[in-house]
Amino acid sequence: MILGSEGALTLTIKMRVSPEPSSSQALLGLMRRYREALNYAVKALIENKALSLGKAHRLLYDTLKERYGLPSKVAQDCYREAIAIAKSWLNNPGRGNLPRAMAPRIWLTNKYSYRVRDGYVELLGGYKLRIIGWDKIYDVYPNGDARLLFKDGKFILGISKRVPKPAKYVARGVLAVDVNEKHIVVGNSQHEHRFETAVERALHYKQLAERLQKKYSFPKYNAWLRRKGIKKRISRFHSKAKRIIEDWAKKTSHEIVALAKRHQYAVAREDLTGLVNNLRKLPKEHKMGLIILSYRRLEHWIDWQCEKNGVPIIVVEPRGTSTTCPKCGSKLVENIYRRLRCPRCGLEADRDTVAVMNIEKKALEKMGGSLTTPTAPQMTDVAPNRCGEPMNP
Ligand SMILES: [Zn+2]
Repeated sequence: MILGSEGALTLTIKMRVSPEPSSSQALLGLMRRYREALNYAVKALIENKALSLGKAHRLLYDTLKERYGLPSKVAQDCYREAIAIAKSWLNNPGRGNLPRAMAPRIWLTNKYSYRVRDGYVELLGGYKLRIIGWDKIYDVYPNGDARLLFKDGKFILGISKRVPKPAKYVARGVLAVDVNEKHIVVGNSQHEHRFETAVERALHYKQLAERLQKKYSFPKYNAWLRRKGIKKRISRFHSKAKRIIEDWAKKTSHEIVALAKRHQYAVAREDLTGLVNNLRKLPKEHKMGLIILSYRRLEHWIDWQCEKNGVPIIVVEPRGTSTTCPKCGSKLVENIYRRLRCPRCGLEADRDTVAVMNIEKKALEKMGGSLTTPTAPQMTDVAPNRCGEPMNP
């Protein structure tokens, strides 16, 4: 997550940790109670509009301690985390159902609830967990709050860190990113590279979930809800689909930003807020949901990777990027499927190529000068599945 723009980034450093066998069950029990308490707290805070620390404390503190058996400090951490979750859910215009924590977990306030020492994490309450492996490059920066999760049989500790933002270089050109349903097209007036989206792969799991759900639902009552095993399988398929999109977005954004960095290009992307809002108005079906999710996650990870790597990022207005001639500005006409032609200057290109060239042009204008020259470096090493058309007018 990117927090603040004044020269610092908040990163989460993840590490696998392992509790001592004698205390493992007790810790897991606490984390399970914490999860239930957190879900209860988020709901209560939203229903009662209690988003300040004082209100949350009065509303929840006793219940969290008595009903969920949380120690005092843990109860405080719990409503703190619940406030953060409730606020971010309320601030999200496209919010769906109430957020729910699935995995057993616990939130840990820096210095009060945990500390890291000699290869161990010590938690309030006497738990000691051995650190199995972590990324040491951020060790010089102080630890912030942390979250311990239990997932797929493993304890994972995520520690947040404030690290200085790397300075951005002066770009020698632009790498434009255009998205459509099937592809992410990346390039500029000389080069083009396409990435497949993960929508079809993820859709497969959505369909499996749906099939299962249909099979076990009856008109009068949801029988599938009563069968814990079935319900679990359905929710596994849904999370699998989500995870496919998230992994894809992370990996693709990483490749795009690494490519830009190697060539000292700025990354330019369209502002997709309008597009996403328009897509949202369409009938809710799985495929559209996955497309929207892909766009939003890719946007998020591209921006994040750019900040982390010191790559300049430029966001341009999407208006007209796939209908205007990037050479002379005339309105393009459709020749055959997805191929466009300019009636004035004769340019002929694929719709995606046109979009990439227009995004590049808009970004260059925003950067306040023309940076591209015919001698710009060739990106021959980066287009294994290049399928763009040559762009000679
Ligand atoms: Zn033209």
